[in-house]
Amino acid sequence: MSFTLHGVGVSPGIAIGVARLASHTRIEVAHYVLSSQFLDKEIARFDDAIAAVRNEMEQLRGQIPSNAPAELPAFLDMHQMILNDSMLSEVPKQLIRSQQCNAEWALTQQMEHLLAQFDAIDDAYLRERKADVVQVVERVLKVLLGHPDNLPSTESNLADCILVAHDLSPADMIGFKHQRFAAFITDVGGATSHTAILARSLNISSVMALHNAHGLIRDNEIIIVDGEQGVVIVDPDDAELEEYQLRQTQWVIEHQKLKRLSGSRSATLDGLDIELHANIELPRDVAAAKEAGASGIGLFRSEFLFMNRSGWPDEEEQFEAYREVAQAMGDMPVTIRTLDVGADKPLGGLTEVTLNPALGKRAIRLCLSESAMFHTQLRAILRASHYGRIKIMIPMLCNLQELRLTHAAIARAKASLVEENLPFDPGIEVGGMIEVPAAALMAQSFAERLDFLSIGTNDLIQYTLAIDRADDGVAYLYDPMHPAVLQLLSVTLRAGEKAGKPVSVCGEMAGDPRLTRLLLGLGLRRFSMQSASLLSVKQQILKSDMQKIVLLVQKILRTTDEDKLETLIARLNQ
Ligand code: PEP
Ligand code: MG
Repeated sequence: MSFTLHGVGVSPGIAIGVARLASHTRIEVAHYVLSSQFLDKEIARFDDAIAAVRNEMEQLRGQIPSNAPAELPAFLDMHQMILNDSMLSEVPKQLIRSQQCNAEWALTQQMEHLLAQFDAIDDAYLRERKADVVQVVERVLKVLLGHPDNLPSTESNLADCILVAHDLSPADMIGFKHQRFAAFITDVGGATSHTAILARSLNISSVMALHNAHGLIRDNEIIIVDGEQGVVIVDPDDAELEEYQLRQTQWVIEHQKLKRLSGSRSATLDGLDIELHANIELPRDVAAAKEAGASGIGLFRSEFLFMNRSGWPDEEEQFEAYREVAQAMGDMPVTIRTLDVGADKPLGGLTEVTLNPALGKRAIRLCLSESAMFHTQLRAILRASHYGRIKIMIPMLCNLQELRLTHAAIARAKASLVEENLPFDPGIEVGGMIEVPAAALMAQSFAERLDFLSIGTNDLIQYTLAIDRADDGVAYLYDPMHPAVLQLLSVTLRAGEKAGKPVSVCGEMAGDPRLTRLLLGLGLRRFSMQSASLLSVKQQILKSDMQKIVLLVQKILRTTDEDKLETLIARLNQ
């Protein structure tokens, strides 16, 4: 029977497809599709992991002390039996072959299948053995994840599948880049969580904060995802299917029409030029940025080069990645943000689990305390600056001391290159992100000491309104139009103007066409967003008249009443 779930629409579009449930295991695993030539290697990797766990268990058996309780060998026996059962040691290999999925994903899929069978067992003792299956699977997963290969090249055969997950990590989403799931839906996550941002960059519809979709939806059920409205219809009836098929066609037509704008000038009705830059996560995203007609890269989230791999990229590898982007963009600017990990983008070996990661050692705080790693990244960026128009951008600045230390680190990296006779752009611009209310309130001081500012509204909203951007429980409080947020935006833009330094917005607000006029009215002239949003924003700019906008936005800035605010925003967007 059909039923509907409501969440937060984080990436627009209508998708109709078959549910594919992601695993419930506590270990996060990447999900990716393999090209056929990698299947044998993947199956061998799976076999090796099973053999390694078998060995581990043998060794454990040898280490059991003679006075250990009798349950211990019995417990090991059972785990060995589970491991050797073809349901765990053979069926995943069939899945790898038939679904072309990676070993971790095949194993967790099979585990979910087995757990569902356990649920149906009447005998309480046997039902409890679920935990043992999970433990054995987790052992195998640990071996698999302990020796991760680089992500293999992928191929799309998931066009009709909708991934249903309790949660997906940013690293997971990077694994999905350029694959063709029809949609993603998750129980948790907010609209500006990094997972949501990546879903938008994939340009496929996505709904998050559904709370219990993973528990309610079954594998292979037909579902409809409306990423605009945040609605998911499970097991739709014929009338619903027909209605959404029609909406889907309309959406595709509108999307196609937008493509015609990619080559046109980005200017308001009264001729004010507006720069539209793209946000990217990996060098390969440049293609989409150029296709959308971006006039630069306003935010290269360099931390994604560090994910889904064992070890960090060395200077040479980073240099190649930055140079690739610089060269691909030619004389257009490329703004590389230095490593921003921590919070919802943890990185093994670098970030610690802390009480409140969003308020902990992340971004520039972490880089300044990991000086060798920071030095390596700065050298790589500087070296790449010889090949294009690269700028350096510092995330999450809070005080001027951090800025002084960062400038000193950049000077050290430059000096080391001079010593080795390696070329770089000596006049490379250095900018800072305004993401913390403290930084917004003293934007003037930052603007005077930097070449440009960029407002990271995702974090600025999180810190101003005290809502964790990745927590679905408080997603309803996320409000880019909160008067306090608007004041901080206005203060920062005015500070940039006064200091004669450009200010951009590279948070998700920049890519929301419903907020384009508001930002124009606040004085924004440089937007940076996911490539997928660029043409919708451009369309809005092309229809905007600055004279009308400025007056209304002045009124909006003086308004604190939510209802009045909503009416004024609606008028602004008419
Ligand atoms: C932001 O905070 O708005 C931003 C652009 O950075 P990130 O989303 O990567 O934290
Ligand atoms: Mg940020």
